[in-house]
Amino acid sequence: MGEMRPDRKKTIPFVLIFLVVFGIMNVLIYRQFMQKQVSEVGYNVFMKMIDEKKIKEASVTSTYILFNDADGNTYKTGLMEDSELYERLYKSGATFGAEIVEPMNPLLYYAITFGVQILLLIIVWKIISRRLMKKIGDDPDMMSFSMSGGKGRGTGRIYVKSKNDVRFRDVAGEEEAKDLLSEIVNYLHEPEKYTEIGATLPKGALLVGPPGTGKTMLAKAVAGEADVPFFSISGSEFVQMFVGMGAAKVRDLFKQAKEKAPCIIFIDEIDAIGKKRDSSLSTNDEREQTLNQLLSEMDGFEGNTGVVILAATNRPESLDPALLRPGRFDRRIPVELPDLKGRIDILKVHAKKIRISENVDFETIAKTASGASGAQLANIVNEGALKAVREGRKVVQQEDLMESVEVVIAGYQKKNKILTNKEKLVVSYHEVGHALVAAMQTQSAPVTKITIIPRTSGALGYTMQVDEDERNLMTKTEIMNKIATLSGGRAAEELIFNEITTGASNDIEQATKLARAMVTRFGMTDEFDMVAMEVVTNQYLGGDTSLACAPETQTKIDHMVVEIVRTQHARAKEILQQNVQKLHEIAKHLYENETITGEEFMDILNSSENTLLNGSSEE
Ligand code: ADP
Repeated sequence: MGEMRPDRKKTIPFVLIFLVVFGIMNVLIYRQFMQKQVSEVGYNVFMKMIDEKKIKEASVTSTYILFNDADGNTYKTGLMEDSELYERLYKSGATFGAEIVEPMNPLLYYAITFGVQILLLIIVWKIISRRLMKKIGDDPDMMSFSMSGGKGRGTGRIYVKSKNDVRFRDVAGEEEAKDLLSEIVNYLHEPEKYTEIGATLPKGALLVGPPGTGKTMLAKAVAGEADVPFFSISGSEFVQMFVGMGAAKVRDLFKQAKEKAPCIIFIDEIDAIGKKRDSSLSTNDEREQTLNQLLSEMDGFEGNTGVVILAATNRPESLDPALLRPGRFDRRIPVELPDLKGRIDILKVHAKKIRISENVDFETIAKTASGASGAQLANIVNEGALKAVREGRKVVQQEDLMESVEVVIAGYQKKNKILTNKEKLVVSYHEVGHALVAAMQTQSAPVTKITIIPRTSGALGYTMQVDEDERNLMTKTEIMNKIATLSGGRAAEELIFNEITTGASNDIEQATKLARAMVTRFGMTDEFDMVAMEVVTNQYLGGDTSLACAPETQTKIDHMVVEIVRTQHARAKEILQQNVQKLHEIAKHLYENETITGEEFMDILNSSENTLLNGSSEE
């Protein structure tokens, strides 16, 4: 355990003390044991000691005599024919007749004492190490340690403030969330201000948003800003194999948190325990018990004890309403995917950690990485740095970052995947088909780059489009155009090769999704007007939907979706047919170079336009 290293130093004095005590004990025992030895002596020595009145007590058995002197040494001698034995003993003043216990076999004796010592050692070690752990827990320098004690052992980690703690300034682009959370920070700083006026602060706040948007970071930043301990646990850690264990963990966690108040408890993935309790047959007793325990713990403490609970989830709709009622997680803080400015800020925050060239244009990178989460952006910066190292450079350049955007979005280049020439040609036409349809529709965003280098994500090539500015709304025409663009790849294949391939599956999926959303959610058809036929059930995780209409309507929806896609597919084909010359030219360029940038694309497009115009005028 890497994090345990600092306390090794603290254990060294204890180990030394142990060794010294152990040594001294053994010397003492050894001496004692030497004294306890029985010395075998001759009968003459025995008689001499009687004469000198040195024997204190003696015990005569049928074969030998055991006797002690005044100093407590024990002797042993054989029994002889000696009729005056008792008389002489009596005269010498020795006691006899009482039995003298023969000292134990020295080896056995030593083994037993050694065993006892080891046992003692273990007990003392346990006591000391437990004390030590407690001390480390109080030590503000320590980053983390596993909590112990109670039934639910190892419940979570305590992060006590550490030197490299997270602050609000480290979390970029989530200004609203920071605003909402700063009130909690203020409260943890100066609770009196709030109690004076009689205000109770929310006990809990729920951070809601897609994965990787910085929810954990924000919770840590609250702890960092308020300078309080931070208990972190994942919801799934509560759910144990045995019923009741999770509830015990919850109790344990709250008990420890209250001892450390003011502090922050952070429960990640709270949906793991906080799912709606329902009456379906497949109930999960353990989860329900854990949730009940959590609810009652949250009710159990007063608002002003200084324990603030933050929880994160990307499935808010699945949470039990009981969790969301006032007095529990009554604050809901949205942590959305960053917008353009947010992405630029996040890139800058992470770029501070690496050595980066001064003329890197973060805006372009942020535009290219549209829709990326904070975690992905952090990854982009890191991938860029790794690439610079791989290529033996000392600073990260713009193109490193641009390449890593592709890596993060489309996966690594697949070096060992060789396309046959025919395949390469098909992929070239397919990708140019998309781009050309996009370019010919004025409202579509221009192409930035097309490549036909296979990626680990499975894409054999792709067209990267960057929207000039951030869009929040899409018009019906734009969606239609997008569907046409998506069909462009397949349309090009049909037009040129008179054959179709499996390469369009992803396009088909996306086009269908868009067309479906037009019909069922965006109210963009005359037939259904403004009626929702579908509801989004999983807003932050891919946006799954569930149908909310009659079976007949479903059939109708399906027909309409097919109709929309069919129309746009035909339109894409038409556009390509009109520009087949350009399609050939650009595809040839792409086939030969494997990559084509937006400018090159536009150059060929414009110049070929001229040739076409010239050609047509010649006719
Ligand atoms: P979540 O809990 O929402 O899934 P995390 O907080 O664990 O996401 O974020 C993962 C990583 O992504 C962070 O460690 C950080 O490096 C990066 N990150 C995410 N959002 C941001 C942001 N807004 N600002 C800076 N870095 C971010």
